[in-house]
Amino acid sequence: MICLGLEGTAWSLSAGVVDERDVIVLENDPYVPEKGGIHPREAAQHHSERVGPLLGRVFKRLGELGIKPEDIDVIAFSQGPGMGPCLRVVATAARVLSLKLRKPLVGVNHCLAHVEVGRWKCDARNPVTLYVSGGNSQIIARRGNYRVFGETLDIGVGNAIDKLARHMGLPHPGGPRIEELAKKGEKYYELPYVVKGMDFSFSGLVTAAKKLYDSGVRAEDVAFSFQETAFAMLVEVTERALAYLGLDEVLIAGGVGANSRLREMLKIMCEDREARFYSPPKELLGDNGAMIAYTGLLMYSHGYETPVENSHVKPDFRIEEVEVLWD
Ligand code: AMP
Ligand code: MG
Repeated sequence: MICLGLEGTAWSLSAGVVDERDVIVLENDPYVPEKGGIHPREAAQHHSERVGPLLGRVFKRLGELGIKPEDIDVIAFSQGPGMGPCLRVVATAARVLSLKLRKPLVGVNHCLAHVEVGRWKCDARNPVTLYVSGGNSQIIARRGNYRVFGETLDIGVGNAIDKLARHMGLPHPGGPRIEELAKKGEKYYELPYVVKGMDFSFSGLVTAAKKLYDSGVRAEDVAFSFQETAFAMLVEVTERALAYLGLDEVLIAGGVGANSRLREMLKIMCEDREARFYSPPKELLGDNGAMIAYTGLLMYSHGYETPVENSHVKPDFRIEEVEVLWD
């Protein structure tokens, strides 16, 4: 079976085509803000201008591989969570494709797609997933359906990093720049470490780190102190979920998962607990269309279909709402 998936919950506009075995085509056209952070309306405008040409490139590459549009069996799209204006553009494009090609439509939960593409590509059985992106930070594991065992009480860790980076005069996205600065950090300054039960919070940490920077502390040390604090919070809760659930696999997902220090801390924790650490390839770690395509294929093969009249976007779509009918 072949599924074409469209992702567009925020900055990433991406289309992927997969079959049961592998990713066949993946094309990206990300929105990059000229200044500041992601502006939902501007991002949506970008997506609406670019989604047609993006799909044109996908079909061209499929043609070169001998795959015709009518060979596609299912159209999947990111139904939420995400920014309403962006979601609507991608849902509209998916509906048009579904009606034009006369193929079934499947609305996919974006967080679920991060987890399932990781399980697929890493052969993970039942991992605790640390999903860390711009908008989301969650610790997810399966107990029947998927459940969120811990999450941010305010902003996502990626968003926190981007806010600090912007304050320090660095361009968006700040993650890779903060990472480079942090590598040259030498002195650790104590910052608010906020874990409440299984949840955590980053906004106080951002405010304190901004103040530290304004007080004249070296940017390298601010970045270093920030990363050590934020990542220790995430690793602590991931470890607690592993222990509580009696599981022995950890999967990383989301753009912040590219950070080498976070990965190192997770690996050390996993080694101590004799758990395996899994990471999907970089192109499938951040937001991408292939993860939507794969999850759409998985759902469709287990009886899911989203009729056009039920394909409205869900900006607050939670992973717990999805009934999981597969192993
Ligand atoms: P996503 O929404 O999952 O695609 O992730 C986007 C977020 O990942 C942005 O907030 C980026 O700043 C962040 N990010 C990307 N690369 C890194 C990195 N190397 N370290 C930390 N954060 C990163
Ligand atoms: Mg994401």
